[in-house]
Amino acid sequence: MPARLMPGLERRLKADQVGDVRFDAFTRGRYSTDASHYQIMPMGVVTPRTIAEAERAIAICRAERVPVTARGGGTSQAGQTVNESLIVDCSAHLDRVVSLDAAARRCVVEPGIVLDELNRKLKPSGLWFPVDISTASRATIGGMVGNNSCGARSLRYGNTRENVLSIDAMLADGTRAHFGRMGDAGVDVPQTLVRDLLAIAARESAEIERRFPKVQRRVGGYNLDALVPSRNDINLAHILVGSEGTLAFSTKIELKLSPLLGRRAVGACHFGSFHEAMLAAQHIVKLNPIAVELIDRTMLGLARDIAMFKPTVDAFLRGEPEAILFVEFAEADWDENLRRLEQLGVLIGDLGLSWDKAGAKWGGVVEVLDPKLQAGITEVRTAGLNIMMSMKEAGKPISFVEDCALPLEHLADYTARLTEIFEKNGTRGTWYAHAAVGCLHVRPVLNLRLDKDVRAMRAIAEDAFAMVREYKGSHSGEHGDGIVRSEFHEKMFGAELVQAFEEVKDSFDPQHLFNPGKIVRAPKFDDRSNFRYGPGYRADDMTTALDWSAYPGAGGGFQGAVEMCNNNGACRALEGGVMCPSYRVTRDERDVTRGRANTLRLAMTGQLGPDALTSDEMAETLKLCVSCKACRRECPTGVDMARMKIEVLRARTEKFGLSLHDRLIGYLPRYAPYAAKFSWLMNLRDSIPGAAKVSEAIAGFSAQRSLPKWRSDIFKDSSWPGLSRPSTSSFKQDVDARHKAGHDGKEVVLFADTFNRYFERENIDAAAAVLESAGYRIHFATPGDGKRPLCCGRTFLSIGKVEEARHEAERTLAALAPYLERGMPVIGLEPSCLFSFRDEITSLVRSDLARRAADAALLFEEFLAREAEAGRLNLALAPVKKRALLHGHCHQKSFDTMTAVEAALKLIPDLQVEAIESTCCGMAGAFGYHADTIEVSRAMGELSLLPAVRNAPDDAFIVADGTSCRHQIHDGAMREAVHVARVLAMSLKEGQKPAELTALAPARSHASAAAPDN
Ligand SMILES: Cc1cc2nc3c(=O)[nH]c(=O)nc-3n(C[C@H](O)[C@H](O)[C@H](O)COP(=O)(O)OP(=O)(O)OC[C@H]3O[C@@H](n4cnc5c(N)ncnc54)[C@H](O)[C@@H]3O)c2cc1C
Ligand code: SF4
Repeated sequence: MPARLMPGLERRLKADQVGDVRFDAFTRGRYSTDASHYQIMPMGVVTPRTIAEAERAIAICRAERVPVTARGGGTSQAGQTVNESLIVDCSAHLDRVVSLDAAARRCVVEPGIVLDELNRKLKPSGLWFPVDISTASRATIGGMVGNNSCGARSLRYGNTRENVLSIDAMLADGTRAHFGRMGDAGVDVPQTLVRDLLAIAARESAEIERRFPKVQRRVGGYNLDALVPSRNDINLAHILVGSEGTLAFSTKIELKLSPLLGRRAVGACHFGSFHEAMLAAQHIVKLNPIAVELIDRTMLGLARDIAMFKPTVDAFLRGEPEAILFVEFAEADWDENLRRLEQLGVLIGDLGLSWDKAGAKWGGVVEVLDPKLQAGITEVRTAGLNIMMSMKEAGKPISFVEDCALPLEHLADYTARLTEIFEKNGTRGTWYAHAAVGCLHVRPVLNLRLDKDVRAMRAIAEDAFAMVREYKGSHSGEHGDGIVRSEFHEKMFGAELVQAFEEVKDSFDPQHLFNPGKIVRAPKFDDRSNFRYGPGYRADDMTTALDWSAYPGAGGGFQGAVEMCNNNGACRALEGGVMCPSYRVTRDERDVTRGRANTLRLAMTGQLGPDALTSDEMAETLKLCVSCKACRRECPTGVDMARMKIEVLRARTEKFGLSLHDRLIGYLPRYAPYAAKFSWLMNLRDSIPGAAKVSEAIAGFSAQRSLPKWRSDIFKDSSWPGLSRPSTSSFKQDVDARHKAGHDGKEVVLFADTFNRYFERENIDAAAAVLESAGYRIHFATPGDGKRPLCCGRTFLSIGKVEEARHEAERTLAALAPYLERGMPVIGLEPSCLFSFRDEITSLVRSDLARRAADAALLFEEFLAREAEAGRLNLALAPVKKRALLHGHCHQKSFDTMTAVEAALKLIPDLQVEAIESTCCGMAGAFGYHADTIEVSRAMGELSLLPAVRNAPDDAFIVADGTSCRHQIHDGAMREAVHVARVLAMSLKEGQKPAELTALAPARSHASAAAPDN
């Protein structure tokens, strides 16, 4: 549904300087969804820099009679944050810890602070906010309070409500109020409001007692139970907890903190039947664990199929269980934990389970005491959920009965009956999560574009909620009401309490300023006009260049790939992993994978006007994507924005042509042979005063950056001293002869990429020296036409010249063909070039040859690590008593090859290898050179890499395999970083080290290094 346009409102908000005010269709589109299946266009979006700005924005909305929806991470699953209103995004700037009283274990925070961020800040005081929800990396405290969020360890710590002490809030009439425990000093809420609320609660206390489910996980409706007269600890703040932004705007939240958890003991209880596991949960909780988490057989299987999780699963798994309950004990006394673990074993035996039995009664407990394995298990659980959500077909697991909470004694019957309901409606679900509190997650697979599946959704919801009611459970046990569950309140709580909820809303907010249509007076949950895939949702077909055939939809599957984003918000994490470096700098929804995917989806489906895909707004949306490919690996649903960006760049390039800047970047491999011949001329840009400024004005290369230095002694395929290479013409015969003779496994192709060939040939020399020293015969593939050197096509992809990239790839594949025929590995040094073989090239060139090249392509360090592991590596290296600090190129991380580079470095005796916890270096190919993006590039470097390098000891090696990473380190931290090949070459034993490599120095401070680039 298109939102009302209110130019007057926009003008007033801008005039009053309430922060970043955006009313354009692209921004509104990015805020029209959350992690639910709904989509409602907001009127506009304000991102205040201070609480005062937020309050001013709300005051303007009150005056203009425009509703307001506060938003944190936007990870709600029930549609809480979508509305035809002004969105106030608290997550970007309203994130201060206002005060911390460690002794009293309490702190006051602004609503936009992310849970993980808060806990990082609390860690030095030995405290944490213990509501450990799965979205801790991006959920804000304001959002958690809004939804009364619940963590895996709620058995011990309770939900958010039990951990909120007080709330400062702005009320609908503009009053600033302080909600807290009645009688406490400072509590300041308008008397009429308090009187009304207490009267409603008192009047309804019998009905509340009768109709509020007696389960811990009840987050539906308003918390009227917190205000009933029988309580002697009425905390007025608790009526705001779980109110989903419908009653007031929280400005400060006071939280109760807990001491950090100590060592834990985990029992992995194996069950031969799912039903037995469900029956057991009620008995297990009597041992007082802090969590009991379920994984079913389907999820176990999925996790076992992932290489990185297989070792973890293998470490705890016995046999073929139908379900596992992970039972966690965390008492201060370690012996007590061990005692409880033992009791768990006895209990499982008493329930009739034994490893010796077969069928349903097979099972037992595997003790997990190793903290690393415990952490691995947590990861597996999360990954299992992610895989479940990453199905590529049009049907997806839909969240609507996902968090019903049942009294434990009914869990077994409930899960069995719900499975039958799914089957009756032609679908299925996978079970996981919080068995200890009877809140099991399950998502039936449905395609909400189809009327029949929307009907199935209603049928399932009606039956499931009726069953929950029958068992006196809660239909809204974790994720809140939003649009999904509010409609069902009458059935669950009865008409009288729903009337009371409406009175609560009207006492706070008679004009319906705050997030109307949630909790009370909600639309039908299956009203398709509010769906992301509403009636008429369709993408026009479009031409695409890459292979998207794994997905359904227009553009050969491009549409399906874009639609994989389910808004779970994992890309909004501010630490850990790499994704998404641009967002970590700007904190702008536009600059995160989710925002980009949503923009693409809306553009492809015509919801952002004609030609949106090639528009300037779309270019802006993708401008800060550095194509680091982190999302390819880290996005739970596999959204690969770097690839998607290629399609958009291609479409724009076809329509508008190329800028001079793009030409100079993209066509580098074509003009490099000539530029190298005139290196002195090319380098004038960084030596003649003012020339850099001219280059910025003409070609967009920032004057603040030096450019890579051209040199005349470039790497030539015939120039490696150790090689006795046949001439090009005789080479085919040579290969044929060897083919006949058989390949002894000691021959490799070394792919000399454009960057190392022209700018840092010492890396190629070093790699060749190491490989030769280990006894490998090295080949350099040469082009059949004998003309300019080979190239992977990466630079062309970065400017959207897909056909040129394809041409380069085909040329290179043809040259590699005879080697591939003989099963030789193709070894590369520059991660972004080498991984093109394993990624884009297979999509550009759909041939058997391309697939074989992908299988054969290995980074230098991957090859060495593989050979060493197989016991085939014969490399004599001298000890180096130094530290090596390793920064991984994003593509190394994306392709999970960091362990290989560490393993390769560890071949050097005595070298102490440490990985730097870093995201993207920020240089990212051409990104860091452009005048428009240099500031963001620098800020990305400052997130983690550059401070770590500055802190490194002077004599440590800084190892970085990426050309641009080395450049960023050089520019930003005044240190020289080196490729892993050079570190290995330097440590070759004397006599094996070629003369030109003996001079290799460890990382030096810039001041003492060779002359800087500019
Ligand atoms: C994959 C996945 C896993 C999840 N796992 C869990 C889990 O383990 N446990 C759990 O409980 N939930 C879970 N959720 C749901 C969701 O992540 C949580 O509810 C989370 O706390 C929401 O935080 P947010 O910052 O994204 O809030 P948002 O979604 O942005 O907002 C939530 C509500 O709070 C309101 N709000 C935000 N700021 C304010 C403010 N300043 N004043 C007033 N109201 C405000 C909003 O209007 C909205 O109604 C999960 C969701 C996903 C997608
Ligand atoms: S490729 Fe990197 S920068 Fe681009 S969207 Fe993905 S994670 Fe973000």
